[in-house]
Parts: sequence; structure tokens; C-alpha cells
Amino acid sequence: MEFKTGAELLEICNIKNCKIYDAAIFQESKLYGISKEEIYIQMKAQLSVMRHSVEEGLSEERKMVGKIIGGEGKKIRDREKNIKPVCGHTMAKAMSYAFATMETNAGMGKIVAAPTAGSCGVLPAILLSIEDSHQVEEQVLLQGLITAGAVGLIIAKNATLSGAEGGCQAEVGSAAAMGAAAIVEMMGGTPAQALHGAAIALKNLMGLICDPIAGLVEAPCSKRNAIGTANALISAEMALSGIESVIPFDEVVATMYQVGRMLPCALRETAEGGIAITPTGLKIKEEIFQ
Ligand code: SF4
Repeated sequence: MEFKTGAELLEICNIKNCKIYDAAIFQESKLYGISKEEIYIQMKAQLSVMRHSVEEGLSEERKMVGKIIGGEGKKIRDREKNIKPVCGHTMAKAMSYAFATMETNAGMGKIVAAPTAGSCGVLPAILLSIEDSHQVEEQVLLQGLITAGAVGLIIAKNATLSGAEGGCQAEVGSAAAMGAAAIVEMMGGTPAQALHGAAIALKNLMGLICDPIAGLVEAPCSKRNAIGTANALISAEMALSGIESVIPFDEVVATMYQVGRMLPCALRETAEGGIAITPTGLKIKEEIFQ
């Protein structure tokens, strides 16, 4: 049985009495003829790149292409280490990891584009902060990564993951949905709860436009990755508490796509609208390209 929608995925999980990552492994193995062990090896390699992208972002003084961002991850991490953060240690650490990965990306370092380079901060932030706060084993993180992949696959098949096509809701919104589902399963929640978490996270960023200053993936992108990360954590907490999305996941995905197509081109990665064309945004662009 293959799944293309959330409803089909849940049906498989119910019939097989399995988790989302089990259903995803089964589908990938069948479609591409690779073993479960190979899938875990590939996921381990991706997780390793994520770890390095966070470490690099927190430790190295990188030269960003646009020099719009830089040092945010370290600032949050230093504050988290020295005082009690207003949003708690897990959230603060996660934010610092999201910023760090985005800094590595902006400095042309190696990242995992999951689901895109512009939203590459969310999943490492979630996985590594949960590892820190809940001391989960690496195998659980790999399962979380596979769960996230299954949710991303459904969004890609039924909508879009591209900021140019659907706005930032499609990039960071999708990353947050993938992350929320991953957290729910890593914390022992059910597949249904995982999709409620994903639906809540995607709805929370519905309508978010794509308006990068100077057309570079730096601002507002890095802060939106931090927000996407926080959104995933909050949405997962709701789902794990038994709070359900009023609108089912598949309907939220379809609506996100419709909303994305309704956005004018100026608000879809062209840098011709939104904060990209504020007086300050245009001044920064002029300084970079003069
Ligand atoms: S604003 Fe645009 S380029 Fe930046 S993260 Fe969002 S979708 Fe990607």
C-alpha cells in the first residue's frame, strides 16, 4: 500500500498498527528497492550533516554572501547558557540551532535542504534540541527524520515546498509541519496526533509571504526559521496534549497550496514586495550590489 495523502498514511498505520516512520520505510523500500538498514544509513548521514551545520554556525566566523545576518545563533546560545531564557532552555537552544544552520547556509557551508535550503534550520534545531532536552537515542532521531520526510513527501505531492510557488508558508511552514510530526512521534505520540501537530503548525504559518531582502536567503529567512522551529515545538506540544486540528491535515495542505497560488508574484521569492522593498530593505540591496 502506497500513501499520497495524510488520510492514506493514517489508514496504513491503522491497518499495520505501525508508526508513520514504519509506513514510510516500507514504502521507500518497496518503491526504490532499498533495505531498511540502507535507509537508516542514509538518514544517519543526513543527521551527521545537520550536526555539522549547527556546530559550524555556532563556532565559525563565516562570511555571509550579503552580510545581512551573522552571529545570531551564538548570541541566543550564550544567553541560554548564562541565564534562564524567557521561553525555556529547549526552545532557546532550538532557536540557536536554527539560526546557526541558516548562518552556515548563508556562508555557503554544507546543509541538508530539508525540505529546502531556505528552511534548512528547522529540522536540525528540533532534532538536536530534543536530543539535548530528552536524551533520546540516535535511532529515535533517525525515526523522527523519516517521519518528517513522510510529511514533506505528502506536502510535495499535493501542494508545494517552494517559496517561489507558494510563499514562505510552503518552505518554513512545511518545515514546521514536518518538524511537529517528528516531535510527536519521537515523544511517543500516535500517527494521528503527529498529523494533527503537522496541520496545526502549517495553519499557524498560513499565508506567510516570501520576501527575501536583496533576494538572498538571509533576512527575514533566518528569523523565520527560528519562528518555524518554535511553531513546531508548540504545535507538537498541543497535539501530544490531545488537542486536535479542527481542519484535517490534507485539507490544510490543499488550502496552503491554494493560498500560495493566490499570492502575487511580488510576494513569491522575487524580492519585489514585502519587507524586501521597504526603504531599509532596498538600501541594503543597493549596498550589496553597488
Ligand atoms: S522568505 Fe522566502 S527565501 Fe526566505 S525562507 Fe521564506 S520562502 Fe525561503
